[in-house]
Amino acid sequence: MLVYADNAATTPMSEAALNATVDAMKNVWGNPSSLHTVGQQAKVVLEEARAKIAGLLGASEREIYFTSGGSEADNQALISAARFGAKRGKKHIISTKFEHHAILHTLDALAKEGFEVTLLDVHKNGIVTPDDVRAALRPDTALVSVMYANNEIGTLQPIREIGAVCREAGVLFHTDAVQAVGHVPVNVAEDNVDMLSISAHKFHGPKGVGVLYAKRGIVLANVINGGAQERGKRAGTENIPAVVGMAAALEEACANLEKNAAYIGAMRDTLIAELSKIPHSVLNGDREKRVPGTVNFCFEGIEGESLLLMLDDRGIEASSGSACTSGSLDPSHVLLALGLPHEIAHGSLRLSLSEYNTPEEVAHIVREVPRVVEYLRGMSPVWENLEKGIQPHLI
Ligand SMILES: *Cc1c(COP(=O)(O)O)cnc(C)c1O
Repeated sequence: MLVYADNAATTPMSEAALNATVDAMKNVWGNPSSLHTVGQQAKVVLEEARAKIAGLLGASEREIYFTSGGSEADNQALISAARFGAKRGKKHIISTKFEHHAILHTLDALAKEGFEVTLLDVHKNGIVTPDDVRAALRPDTALVSVMYANNEIGTLQPIREIGAVCREAGVLFHTDAVQAVGHVPVNVAEDNVDMLSISAHKFHGPKGVGVLYAKRGIVLANVINGGAQERGKRAGTENIPAVVGMAAALEEACANLEKNAAYIGAMRDTLIAELSKIPHSVLNGDREKRVPGTVNFCFEGIEGESLLLMLDDRGIEASSGSACTSGSLDPSHVLLALGLPHEIAHGSLRLSLSEYNTPEEVAHIVREVPRVVEYLRGMSPVWENLEKGIQPHLI
């Protein structure tokens, strides 16, 4: 049995998205900037996809900018708000310690340019509160950026309430919604957001395409300079097959959102119930306030890397957190942000499900994980010390 349980890293494309993409590759190859018929036909298809995506997010077409993915959307959102703020003497940015690196590393770059960045602590349950944001606001705050759902532990943030705090203070609010869109209801108007990032490959669309939503009136800065595509804000001939595939994937995800959430959520709850029975294990992040598919556990005395390799051997494809940091031996910045000690943060397991998983696959996971944990603990000098009481158990 082969169980793909790493859907927070990427998802396989849906039939609908794949068909739409291939069809556009074959038939819609014109350049939307061309004035002739072939070009204008491509332009129509592009704008139909934009309208569809806008409708699904509660935005208007003019607020949707296509990008090469979530990372680019995050970069452009932060850089835009920073430049806009700087012109008005506002050089303070608020974000959180457990953002994706597309946010954190962009903030590092902005800090080098003279911006002051406040990274909020995350509570033990993996959530940042509106009060945390309110307390950090300053008269010179240009932007608040808080992710909608965390990619490593799956916790949902109170985005609507944080958005309301920002709006009241007149501060721009961006959210990295890459793990949320297509999985939980997201509506840019109701959620009080000014900018929002999405990525197609996290909801069964193609890789290398995403959206930056920017509310009407927001002045975007160019990250890619060149032609006048995307209302002059993102140069480069539009990737129509990918955009069309993204629109098809999002339409399907939104149409089945509740049904999928119930189906996936039930499997997730089985994972939580069964894996919590492993002694000295802990579920990271709030039990309830989480996306349907993602769980993250720490098992004391275990190294995440060996756990992943042994699970892979047994047909279970999981992750130790972010795909971007796997391969490095640094403990996850997300788990450290929750206040977990280094020793524990090393031994994490992220399982992320989609509607393509089955209860039989979940049964395989809950059978194999305890066995592998027990086996690895049997070989672990750290575990031996814990069991002999030479070192105290931390969980
Ligand atoms: C995957 C991911 C990104 C990056 O999106 P890409 O399309 O892969 O660039 C950004 N933020 C979060 C929360 C993600 O999960």
